Amino acid sequence: MICGACIFNLTNSYTLDFHSFNLHENVLTGIDSMGYNKPTPVQEQAIPLILERKDMIACAQTGTGKTAAYLLPLIDRISHEGYEHTSTLILVPTRELAKQIDEQVEGFGYFASVSSIAIYGGSKGGDWDQQKRALTTGADIIIATPGRLLAHMAMGYVKLDQLNHLVLDEADKMMDMGFMDDLLKIIKQLPKERQTLLFSATMPRKIRDLAQQILQNPAEVNLAISKPAAGIDQRLYLAYDNQKLPLLEHLLQEQEVQSMIVFTSRKSNVNQIVRSLRKMGFGAEGIQSDMSQEERERALQGFKNKQHQILVATDIVSRGIDIDSLSHVVNFDMPQDAEDYVHRVGRTARAASTGVAITFVNEKDMFKVQKVERLIERELPKLSLPEDFGPGPAYDPTKRHDTRGGGRQGGGNRPGAGAKKHDHRSKHHRKPGNPKEAGAKPQAQGETSTAEGATKRPNNRNRNRNRNRNKPTDGGEVQSTPQA
Ligand code: AMP
Repeated sequence: MICGACIFNLTNSYTLDFHSFNLHENVLTGIDSMGYNKPTPVQEQAIPLILERKDMIACAQTGTGKTAAYLLPLIDRISHEGYEHTSTLILVPTRELAKQIDEQVEGFGYFASVSSIAIYGGSKGGDWDQQKRALTTGADIIIATPGRLLAHMAMGYVKLDQLNHLVLDEADKMMDMGFMDDLLKIIKQLPKERQTLLFSATMPRKIRDLAQQILQNPAEVNLAISKPAAGIDQRLYLAYDNQKLPLLEHLLQEQEVQSMIVFTSRKSNVNQIVRSLRKMGFGAEGIQSDMSQEERERALQGFKNKQHQILVATDIVSRGIDIDSLSHVVNFDMPQDAEDYVHRVGRTARAASTGVAITFVNEKDMFKVQKVERLIERELPKLSLPEDFGPGPAYDPTKRHDTRGGGRQGGGNRPGAGAKKHDHRSKHHRKPGNPKEAGAKPQAQGETSTAEGATKRPNNRNRNRNRNRNKPTDGGEVQSTPQA
C-alpha cells in the first residue's frame, strides 16, 4: 500500500526558507551552490525533526527531495560535532542510488568538509580492494548496499562501533529485493544509541514492523497530496502491441523531446526497442539488470551526459535515479503495480519543473488503468491513435485479459512484432545517415567518464583535497544494483 504522503506536488508547496532551519553557514552555502532556493515539503517537515535528533519514519519517493531532507541536517551535525569516526551509515537497495547519494554528499559536503564513500557489489576484484582501503581509512558517511557492506564487515575492518546515524533509504525496495536478513544482521552490529531514519515510498505492514524493531519513538512525516507532481502531463494511448513502436516513433517526431526514458516491464524487450529506435534514427541506449556494471554505467552516464536522447529501461531506474531535465517518460507497457506507475512518471517533472508522461495500454492491461487512477485520484486522458494507425483496442477496464495474444492485430508482447502491417512505419521511417543516428552510439570518451560524480557536481568540488581522500578512485569500477 502506498501512503498518501508519498507523492505530492512540489510546485506550489514551498513556504519556508532554508535559513529558518538554523543550519550552519557552511551548509547554507552548500545548499546555495546546489541552486536550491526553497525546501521541498518533505524537507520542510523532516529537517527540523532530524535536527532535533528524533528517529523518523518518512513516506517519500524519489523526486520529492528526500535525499537532501536527511543529508542536510546530518551533514550540518557531522561538520560541527567534529566526530573522529564514521558517524553515518546510509543503506540503499541499488548501486545507482548509492552513487547518486554519494554525489549529493560531495555537492553539499564540499563546504562542510564531510567525506563519504559508496560501497556496492562489484564484478572485479579491484573494486573490493579499493573499497577495503577506503573503509579501512574511514569516512564520515558510508553509503552502502547491504550485501556488500555485510561482506566487508565480516572481514573486521569496518568500524561502525561509534555510529551516530543510520538511514534506510528506499526501505520498501530493499525489502522487495530480499535484503531484510542482511539489514537486520548489519543493524545488530550497530550501537543501540543512535538516530535512525527510515525512508520508504510505500508503507506495507512489513515496513511498519521493521520500523517498530529498529526505531525509537519515531516522528512520522506525512504529506497530504497523493498524486504525481502537477507539472506532469499524463496521457494514455490505447494501442495493440504492434502499434507501440510506430506510435513511439510518431511521438518522437511530433513532440519536442529533449530526453526520454522508455520503460518496459520486460528485460527482453529492452534490446529490441533500442534496436528499433536506432533503426529509426534515434540515439538510444538500454539499461536492464542482466547487463554488466560497466554497460549499465555507460548507458546511464551517456544518457545523463546527453550523448543519447533516449534511455530504454526496466524498472531498475524507475526509483532512485535522478536525471536532470527529463522531458518525457514513456511507459511502453503498463507497469505491474500502480505504485510503479507513479515511480516511473515521477522521473519527469522533478522538483518543480514540467514533463510529459505517456503510457501505452494494450488490451490486456486495461484493468490496470483503473488501479492507477484510483491511486493518483485522477482520471487519465485516453487518447486515440493518430489517424493513419488504424483503430486501437477499445477501452474496457473490466476485461482482465484477452488471451488471444494481441487480438486481431496479432504480435503478442514482442515490441514491433507485426508492426510492418502499418504503412505508417515506412512513411515515418528515418533514412540511414540521419544526423540523429550519430548520437545513437555513446562516445568513447563518455564511456570512460562514468567514474563517480561525472556529472552534477559543483565545479569547485575538485578544489577539495581531503574530503574525497578515502573514496575508491574509479567509481566506474564498482558494481551496482539488485545487489549483494
Ligand atoms: P530526490 O527526491 O532526493 O531524488 O531529489 C530529486 C531532485 O530534486 C534532485 O535533483 C535534487 O537535487 C532536487 N532537489 C532536492 N531538493 C531541492 C530543493 N529544495 N530545490 C530544488 N531542487 C531540489
